[in-house]
Amino acid sequence: MTSQQSYQPWHLKYRPQNLSELVGQPLIVRTLTNELKTGNLPNVFLFDGPRGTGKTSTARIFAKSLNCLSSSQPTLTPCGTCLSCRSICSGSNLDVRELDAASNNGVDDIRELINYSKLSTTNRYRIIYLDECQMLSRSAQNAALKLFEDRLPNTIFILATTESEKLLDTIISRCQHFQFRRLSTQDITERLSQITLNEKISANPEALRLIAQHSQGGMRDSVQLLEQLAMSTNGKIEPHHVRDVIGSIPADSLVDLCVSIFQDTPQRLHNLMALSNQLNDEGVEPVHLVKELLAIHRDLLVFQLSQDTNSLKQGKVPFASLIDLSSIESLSQLVSIPEIHHRLLTLEAAALSIQQSSNPLIGLEICLLQLAYPCLGKE
Ligand SMILES: [Zn+2]
Repeated sequence: MTSQQSYQPWHLKYRPQNLSELVGQPLIVRTLTNELKTGNLPNVFLFDGPRGTGKTSTARIFAKSLNCLSSSQPTLTPCGTCLSCRSICSGSNLDVRELDAASNNGVDDIRELINYSKLSTTNRYRIIYLDECQMLSRSAQNAALKLFEDRLPNTIFILATTESEKLLDTIISRCQHFQFRRLSTQDITERLSQITLNEKISANPEALRLIAQHSQGGMRDSVQLLEQLAMSTNGKIEPHHVRDVIGSIPADSLVDLCVSIFQDTPQRLHNLMALSNQLNDEGVEPVHLVKELLAIHRDLLVFQLSQDTNSLKQGKVPFASLIDLSSIESLSQLVSIPEIHHRLLTLEAAALSIQQSSNPLIGLEICLLQLAYPCLGKE
């Protein structure tokens, strides 16, 4: 096999292969592990949670664990290479079906499923994965409920949803309900770090944190960005490489801008206008700059309240600033909690109004003046 043929994108290469490799869902992993060990399996699961949190991966691993041919019974370590494991991965296993309820949402579709679930199986278990199950019509949900209550032998249904509040209560109460959580920045950073070790590339920890933060809790996006950066930097990833790819505002300029806002000096007004013009000349969108200042103030507030940079690393909030943690620490010396709070309100209002403004640059300048001179507008 040539290297061209054996190449696998990293997000596929580093997909979890068994339950112990699933990241960020410890409670779900523990429960499924115990159920596989004891054989006490519910016949309907509900996988509930945002996109990109591992619902489909978990369902495939579970199906492989139940049906792997390398073991005479369900196993925690499916081999990944037997006929059953491979056909589950490729979606061609006759007893493991993945259906999108968005396009199969009527009673007739459920009737078809009832007929299918009565066929004999060649694998130990039949697994039916119904994605976006909240899209089923009300009557289809009622028909499905009957099917679940029949408890067909060796048949397991996995319902997946991003909006469980749209499901009938009777369906939810019939299921073992798993709540999938967004992955934390730390979960993702740790996984990226393992991959860099395995691929023998060097990556600054701050660079990995920026990648993780940018992907908003999605592992797949993070791993794809890591691979892209590994290629473009010849395997030596620094924070500025990440910033170049994900955001066009240089961190130094952001820190300078914040210092000008926070420090009362004779050159303050001049510096603010000069920096604002310079960023504009470099093609930075005013609304992008305001959102970045908002993220910095959010980080400053979290840091001031906790006095601990670890609290920033563990955050699950989708936005957080592009500047490094040591800059947050030094900037926080210049500003108090009430001042941060006041400026957050100013920035939130500006982010909205600049988006709708016909002249965003003037909106940005007014916002910067309000930030630097909070006494404006007071009697
Ligand atoms: Zn196998």
